[in-house]
Amino acid sequence: MHILVTNDDGVMAPGLLALAQAMQSFGQVSVVAPDHNWSISGHVKTLNRPLRVVEATLADGTPALASDGAPSDCVALAVLGLLPEPIDFVVSGINPVPNLGHDLTYSGTVTAAMEAAIWGLPAVAFSLDGPEGEHMSEIDYSPAARVAAEVVSLALKHGIASQTLLSVNIPYRPYEQLHGFQVTRQGLRIYRDALIKRTDPRGKPYYWIGGDAPTGVPEEGTDIGALQAGLVSITPVQLDLTAHQLVADIAAWEWSLAEAPAAPGKDGSA
Ligand code: MN
Repeated sequence: MHILVTNDDGVMAPGLLALAQAMQSFGQVSVVAPDHNWSISGHVKTLNRPLRVVEATLADGTPALASDGAPSDCVALAVLGLLPEPIDFVVSGINPVPNLGHDLTYSGTVTAAMEAAIWGLPAVAFSLDGPEGEHMSEIDYSPAARVAAEVVSLALKHGIASQTLLSVNIPYRPYEQLHGFQVTRQGLRIYRDALIKRTDPRGKPYYWIGGDAPTGVPEEGTDIGALQAGLVSITPVQLDLTAHQLVADIAAWEWSLAEAPAAPGKDGSA
């Protein structure tokens, strides 16, 4: 069993170390992670510049590879031959903040697991509902790492269907105070982004997406509800984003090429 460990917080993040250590009981562990923080970077495929990879060492001496690519690039690099041995399973995290609801498309942690699913590998993304405002190095990842080992153990036993992955969110509390596991759906995240406009020293305006951290609707059966109830949330995620329930309805629209407006001519005339 060869497990690839990656994350979006960078190769030196303590959550990555905790996850790599938790995976060691399952077999061979390889770490390929970004050389800097790529949080909230979404699903990236870097095709327009070279990707560099350097050797790194985790705090416990574990050898790792650090790339200047995104988390999803790290997975692609590893799968496409950076690592000589084939990979059997991919884990990403442990992210210090949760990835809930619509966060999944923003999350580098989750999109690394999505990249693994694209390459036909079972993958799990781990995110911790860490304390707000606390520095990453102050966070105790040990309960979450224990949860990660339990999740991977079951995923190896039962398998994860092709083109799917698991997004796991873990409450931040001592292991003994976790209330159990719940398989969930994505909840409704409420973003409180606000656009901040300022002027740079050259007199030009710039924009910054600021505002407060997102909240969410803690509905029963959702990832957000599970965390609020002290439960580890396990959300099965599929790469197929098709809104299947809309296909028949939209197919019933009056589709006809004759109805389409004519393209304007080169001189702007219709
Ligand atoms: Mn992150």
